[in-house]
Amino acid sequence: MIFLKLLIIFIFCNFSNAFADTFDYGYTKDGFKYVKHKHNESSYQHAYCSAHNGTEEYQNSDFTRVDCLTDEYAIEFDFANKWAESIGQALHYQLMTSKKAKVVLILENPQKQMIYFNRVNKIGKKYQFDVEYITPDILKIKHNKCNYPDCKCNKHRI
Ligand SMILES: [Zn+2]
Repeated sequence: MIFLKLLIIFIFCNFSNAFADTFDYGYTKDGFKYVKHKHNESSYQHAYCSAHNGTEEYQNSDFTRVDCLTDEYAIEFDFANKWAESIGQALHYQLMTSKKAKVVLILENPQKQMIYFNRVNKIGKKYQFDVEYITPDILKIKHNKCNYPDCKCNKHRI
C-alpha cells in the first residue's frame, strides 16, 4: 500500500513538474502570475515579417492592426500560451483583408511547447487557416542578445 501511495505521489509530481516547465513564470508586485519571455513578441514579428517582405502593423478599416501582411497572408504572431486568442485574431484579419489567415506561434522552448503548435495546427487543418511556428533561431541571437535594440534582451546593454 505504501508503495502504491509513493508511486501515485511520484507520478503526480512528475506530471506537475512537466506542466510547470512548459512556461517560465514571473510575478508582478501585486502578486499576479505571468509568463516570462526572453524576447519581445515584436522582435519575432520584425524578423519574420522582414524575411517575408511583409508590412508590419497594417491597419484595417476597423482600426485593428495585422501583425504582418504579406501578398498571401494576414498573419498573427503569439507566444504559445496565447494559442487560443491567436486563432481569433488571425481569422478576424482574414475577414478584414481578404487574405488567408495565418497563425505564427512563437515557441521559445520548442521541446515543451510543440504541443500548442500541434493543437493549433490540427484546428487549422480542419477549419482551413495556415499555421507555422518559429523559435528564437529566427532572431540570429549572438551572446544572448538579438538584433533589435527595443527588445527586452537588450535592456541592460552597457
Ligand atoms: Zn531580443
